Amino acid sequence: MPSADPLVDRMRGFGTTIFAEMSALAVRTDSINLGQGFPDTDGPPELLAAAVEAIRTGHNQYPPGIGIVELRRAIAGHQRRHYDLDYDLESEVLVTAGATEAIASAILAFAGPGDEVVVFEPYYDSYAACIALGGAQRRAVTLERSGNGWRFDPQALTAAISPRTKAILLNTPHNPTGKVFDAAELSQVAEIARQRNLLVISDEVYEHLTFDGRTHIPIATLPGMRDRTVTIGSAGKTFSVTGWKIGWVTAPARLVTAVRTVKQFLTYVSGAPFQPAVAQALDAGSYGALAGGLQQQRDLLCDGLADLGFDVVRPEATYFATVDVQRDAVEFCRELPHRAGVVAIPSSVFYDSSAGDTLVRFAFCKRPDVLAEALRRLKEAAP
Ligand code: PMP
Ligand code: GLN
Repeated sequence: MPSADPLVDRMRGFGTTIFAEMSALAVRTDSINLGQGFPDTDGPPELLAAAVEAIRTGHNQYPPGIGIVELRRAIAGHQRRHYDLDYDLESEVLVTAGATEAIASAILAFAGPGDEVVVFEPYYDSYAACIALGGAQRRAVTLERSGNGWRFDPQALTAAISPRTKAILLNTPHNPTGKVFDAAELSQVAEIARQRNLLVISDEVYEHLTFDGRTHIPIATLPGMRDRTVTIGSAGKTFSVTGWKIGWVTAPARLVTAVRTVKQFLTYVSGAPFQPAVAQALDAGSYGALAGGLQQQRDLLCDGLADLGFDVVRPEATYFATVDVQRDAVEFCRELPHRAGVVAIPSSVFYDSSAGDTLVRFAFCKRPDVLAEALRRLKEAAP
């Protein structure tokens, strides 16, 4: 007789992702979904048309394992244009099934049983799950709230590193806080990585969704870092097509080879007709406008929440704003759809420590009329 719960031990405790749980709750309660981060408008029409055209013109079979050459060329061009980072399109660029697969492949490639990976908490949920899948352990460094932003203690980062540490997993711009790591902070991370000879896996999926004129700095651009950094990007966020799942890795050849070794046995390949479409869009650089609209949506939501008396931290980037609800965040989020017809995400599930127990994440990547209606409803839950 098989055991009642066939799930392998190391995945116990991961259950259903908070995004799936909360999106299902939104549907069940007919609530406005400010939980899972996906835009409620489509990406640029030319991009959509290019994918339709690709399906019509026979881009429907397995693409090459590392991604079609046009897309790898476009990714290399993007890194060069924006960041002056040069990657060889044959050996240093890899197309993945979303950033999610890039993250999974990198973690599984570099960290196994007995190894440790340092993450900043709150951390994106797949980091913890993939570290556990590989049999490694995570060590979390807390991003502490400081006024209207978030900072980490470099000594805490140093203390989190042990002889078992294989990699630091960085996410900038950061989900869920909306923090953009600045040059000084990145230098601190880079210095520790160099001193302790660590790899850095840098999840930069929100690179183009920054506000107030802030610019994103890839850690690979810092002295000595290109050689030890795996940089991850995604078309989902850059072009508002989160369901397409086209992501990528840029890194030195020996790191790409390791990541590819794992990746080829996860999906092998994906998204044949989306790859040429994303290549065209990257070449055209048609992403600047998205951040401008998003900044207005951020202001609409954050101003509205503040007017209602919520303690809101205005993000520097991404799709998300954080509110301190000054009570248990999970309870608050489970009740919110019933009290107000709105769904949000308890950020506490992205922490190992209790630092996020009262923090809630609201997504503002929604049409202004939807945000306005959500704010009207949130009066019911105002402090
Ligand atoms: N990293 C972060 C920080 C994210 O927020 C997300 C989700 N949008 C992902 C990775 C996953 O990206 P993708 O949808 O391309 O798999
Ligand atoms: N990245 C999205 C978010 O943070 C969710 C993606 C998912 O559902 N896994 O909301």
